[in-house]
Amino acid sequence: MNRDSGVTIDLETGLVQPAVHRPSPNQDARPADCAIDLVVLHGISLPPGAFGGPWVDRLFTNRLDPAAHPYFREIAHLRVSSHLFVGREGHIVQYVPLHRRAWHAGRSSHQGRPDCNDFSIGIEMEGTDESAYTEAQYRTLDRLLPALMAVYPGIAADRIVGHCDVSPGRKTDPGPCFDWERARRAVLSNRDHGRETTRDRVG
Ligand SMILES: [Zn+2]
Repeated sequence: MNRDSGVTIDLETGLVQPAVHRPSPNQDARPADCAIDLVVLHGISLPPGAFGGPWVDRLFTNRLDPAAHPYFREIAHLRVSSHLFVGREGHIVQYVPLHRRAWHAGRSSHQGRPDCNDFSIGIEMEGTDESAYTEAQYRTLDRLLPALMAVYPGIAADRIVGHCDVSPGRKTDPGPCFDWERARRAVLSNRDHGRETTRDRVG
């Protein structure tokens, strides 16, 4: 358990606190002996550009009504999830325990290693490529990212990347409006990982 940052992580249950816990059926076991050493940040909004609705929650729990919006017809069949979702107000919803595999990155690779879902934690930020993320969301990352790094030492500062980095050409999220410098502020000031912080994120 790490309590330094106000976010706690129970390694046995894989649960983050404080968070609303909404188990997604879209999860399975990680490969045996697979260390968690990457964070993939995403952006999502449903329907695209709208915030605060129940639709992301319904997508991640396989309850999205394809008739509720034209766009939903295209995506309602998807079986996807992320470990964590950070809403515009900065609140956290957890869909998959951290030690389990969430289905967020799809076809992906990081430094030549394929299938990032195997070894990463997926965090969906409610947002779009065209709009700024909120200060409340960055404040949540300030607490969350150091807590993750404390319990999963393989997550160095340069191993916090975007979906755009692991699925280039296919994905653009969290998008050009995501402020990586701001997001990394707490990570950079984390004394345990201070040496890791001068490198750019891996593209
Ligand atoms: Zn994504």
